[in-house]
Amino acid sequence: MPALDERYSRQILFPGIGLEGQRKLAGSRIAIVGCGATGSVLSSLLVRAGVGYVRIIDRDYIEPSNLQRQVLFDEQDAAESLPKAIAASRKLQQINSTVTIEPHVEDLTPANCDDLLEATDLVLDGTDNFETRYLLNEYAIREHRPWIYTAAVGSYGVTMNILPAEDASSTGATACLACVFPHPPTGATETCDTGGILNSAVNLIASIAVTEAMKWLVGDHLRMRRTLLSFDAWHNDHSEIRASQPSPNCTVCGQHQFPYLSGRAHPHISLCGRNSVQIHERHRPIRFAELETRLSPHGEVRYTEYVLKFLRSPYELTLFPDGRAIIKGTTDIGVARSFYARFIGS
Ligand SMILES: [Zn+2]
Repeated sequence: MPALDERYSRQILFPGIGLEGQRKLAGSRIAIVGCGATGSVLSSLLVRAGVGYVRIIDRDYIEPSNLQRQVLFDEQDAAESLPKAIAASRKLQQINSTVTIEPHVEDLTPANCDDLLEATDLVLDGTDNFETRYLLNEYAIREHRPWIYTAAVGSYGVTMNILPAEDASSTGATACLACVFPHPPTGATETCDTGGILNSAVNLIASIAVTEAMKWLVGDHLRMRRTLLSFDAWHNDHSEIRASQPSPNCTVCGQHQFPYLSGRAHPHISLCGRNSVQIHERHRPIRFAELETRLSPHGEVRYTEYVLKFLRSPYELTLFPDGRAIIKGTTDIGVARSFYARFIGS
């Protein structure tokens, strides 16, 4: 494999990978859920490392305020409001034309997670919300699939490998996300929109997650970290909490209760940060050209192949071809719902 040898020569020289590990990376299939700041780092490093198949799932579009930390994107992407999955896929394919990149402009939900995550060796968390992470956790437990939790806010990053038990004697299952955090945070929690975020904190924690991913994919499972690692890059605080074994009381990995996967905990309308509400799962195919004609008398409309933007002060509606929408300018679900019903349909 001369091309493989040359392109990845510096990685093959590293004893932990070697030629055998490089071949395993080339034969690996991963899914990255969420392609913002964390997902940009996860996907670009793993594509450069030669992971053969990468599925990118993201529901959002690019805005100027993303560019400070979402290292796959540029000003042109923001000017076009490109969906992140599409822009990421284009860049990643330019970085490495020998791997397969499959973009999905979708929100991961109980209804589509079987399709979106099927046939992958590892799932990586690039999301920004607990709801999707709990869904991912339940899916991974049910399917005995490994996944890597990664989050960053402010100067602080946290990551954990959630690994299934392996058949061959060696290692048992780790704790799952619900073992460590039995309930999602309630009340006011810091997010990138309230607490800000340092791009270096994201790159630090995502790089650690990528290293763990490579260990999994080349089969060096015994070297994988079995702790919840947190690192505050500004204050130089570093801590690890043991997570090598499931909690005996965990309702998810212990009792196989899956409230998120069964849809019981899944809202159809949700806040999605930065003064926005998302209306999802409409399954209402939309023709942008027709809608432009209809909406033009009521505000400013522009559209591309991927999104339609409708600006009517103080709201900005971004519509995807399947009818899903993000309404910016309010955190009031009722206001967002009636805006959608009035201009798109109920
Ligand atoms: Zn658990």
